[in-house]
Amino acid sequence: MLYLILFGAPGSGKGTQSDLLVEKYKLTHLSTGDLLRKEIASGSELGKTINEYISNGNLIPDEMMISMLSAHIDNTPATAGFILDGFPRTVAQAEALQNMLEQREGAQTQLVDLEVDKDELISRLLKRGETSGRSDDNLETIQKRLEVYETKTKPVNDYYKAKGLHACIDGMGTIDEIFQRIVKALEGKI
Ligand code: ATP
Ligand code: MG
Repeated sequence: MLYLILFGAPGSGKGTQSDLLVEKYKLTHLSTGDLLRKEIASGSELGKTINEYISNGNLIPDEMMISMLSAHIDNTPATAGFILDGFPRTVAQAEALQNMLEQREGAQTQLVDLEVDKDELISRLLKRGETSGRSDDNLETIQKRLEVYETKTKPVNDYYKAKGLHACIDGMGTIDEIFQRIVKALEGKI
């Protein structure tokens, strides 16, 4: 079973590329952002707490995120594998995932890192903000999210590089160009 980690800054196109990858490889898409937004929409107390973090451009605390994610994986029927979109976002989350997968026979991991220029990220997110209704797609929160990405999330790259499970993808260009680059990088691994 493959656990494909789609990695990259906010606005790098993880959600967009996930949809294409799901179709091609019949993987199950697991987006922590979607999971969290669903919890917010349910109106629960947990959702209210989550909303505070997201609207301020902060990450959800690791323990909360890890337990939500592992419960979700456990409750999802097995397919060819998973696309993890938005997880892990800290080194602590990467370690927790590694521990979780070590207990699953035949689990394979691969990280695909979508590299996109900062100006392009900001312009994509501002454009998405015009229609997404997301509380975090405004300039102030975008800047905070990019800062959090640099300090807390980017180090996850090194964790997977050290294990030889890291592929770097140029995330600039058309959706299809980027998709073809990912497919090429996954050749022989999927
Ligand atoms: P993209 O545009 O590439 O899909 P994104 O950063 O805009 O990425 P989401 O992945 O939907 O959007 O995440 C939205 C917010 O949810 C994050 O800014 C963060 O607050 C929270 N979040 C999502 N995943 C995690 C995680 N693994 N750990 C902590 N917080 C998370
Ligand atoms: Mg997303």
